[in-house]
Amino acid sequence: MSRPATEPSDLLITGASLLGRTSADVLVREGVIAAVGPDAATDAAAGTPRVDGDGLVLLPGFVDLHTHLREPGREDAETVRTGSAAAAAGGFTAVLAMANTSPVTDTAEAAERVLDLGVAAGHCDVQPIGAVTKGLEGAELAELGLMHRSRARVRVFSDDGRCVHDARVMRRALEYVRAFDGVISQHSQDPTLAGPSACCHEGELSGRLGLTGWPAVAESSIIARDAELALHTGSRVHVAHVSTAEGVEAVRWAKRRGARITAEVTPHHLVLTTDLLTGYDPVYKVNPPLRPAEDVEALREALADGTIDAVATDHAPHARHDKEHAFPDAAFGMLGLETAFAVVHDVMVDSGRIDLATLAERMSHAPARIAGLTDHGRAIEAGAPAHLVLVDPTDRITVDPATSHSLSRNTPFAGHTLTGRVRTTILRGRVTAADGEVRN
Ligand SMILES: [Zn+2]
Ligand SMILES: [Zn+2]
Repeated sequence: MSRPATEPSDLLITGASLLGRTSADVLVREGVIAAVGPDAATDAAAGTPRVDGDGLVLLPGFVDLHTHLREPGREDAETVRTGSAAAAAGGFTAVLAMANTSPVTDTAEAAERVLDLGVAAGHCDVQPIGAVTKGLEGAELAELGLMHRSRARVRVFSDDGRCVHDARVMRRALEYVRAFDGVISQHSQDPTLAGPSACCHEGELSGRLGLTGWPAVAESSIIARDAELALHTGSRVHVAHVSTAEGVEAVRWAKRRGARITAEVTPHHLVLTTDLLTGYDPVYKVNPPLRPAEDVEALREALADGTIDAVATDHAPHARHDKEHAFPDAAFGMLGLETAFAVVHDVMVDSGRIDLATLAERMSHAPARIAGLTDHGRAIEAGAPAHLVLVDPTDRITVDPATSHSLSRNTPFAGHTLTGRVRTTILRGRVTAADGEVRN
């Protein structure tokens, strides 16, 4: 039986291209990069496992700020084991697990349980996110300090799925986490403007399709309010899944004013548009909803210029019987972990909008920084933990849901052909996935 991937290992990666350099060898000893350069291979002990990086680019392992792993409570849709396997296949070495499980991750014990499930699975580092409020009810603060002081070292808190709507509760949460440089990740959706039945971007199309509208102002108004609270408290706020041009403008304005605010965008909001809803296929039902092409363009621009700091998947697996309903009754959400790199590479890098170094910043360095995961998102140099991914920027993939490691199949990209393939994922010097096959 193979050792769990959480144990450090030796490894030699030969001939991979490093950003800003020609090809080099990378030697890993006991999970840490020991040498980088043309002569690293000569230092390798006999019998060191090898990975051929010829023709590939070596990047820091990806970090996902926003993953729904569904355990505990909905192990029919996903488990920590299957979700983190999908993450490894997608090039991720760390994921942050959202708190809206059943029961909710709102105590130190619940957070430690998710952490332990991640270690036992061994596919990638699984960092629990703590709820902001008890039971995600929006009223009483959860055990933020106890979760932070637990073994799980929780630093990111979110009621995702729901917005922390009460400004006083949001203010107190921000004040509370400032002591340990925590961050509140906000699902920006004013429920009085976009309620639980809102499922289609509000506009001409929502009227024509007879679907309840979800207006952009329900997002931008919460972002603006939270920016004011971040300025007032001096604390960090993170905007989950920004989806509109108005939301982007609010983030831009807040950053100009000096608010400690960061934002993420999902791969699906960078590509898919609201007109896909005309067929009422629930695979395109997601929250926030798909937006018109002008919003998609604004999101791409903001990701390129750094207004949006990070890509995050909002991987949201759903069992077939929760997704296969009439559109208004189907569950919100899409898979994302296994397709994230290809989608972002295809739409942002292959199109020439950003280079691979900027992709690494948005998918690895920035999310690790935002989450305070100091072992991840490091430069590829001696002394850094060996959390790495080898990618082929020229190879094309066609998305086949049947090959997914997730327990669910609700990908909106089935049949899409994209340029950019994850080849090998490495956690502490161990290969966790190679060519879509997950090890151990
Ligand atoms: Zn959300
Ligand atoms: Zn989410």
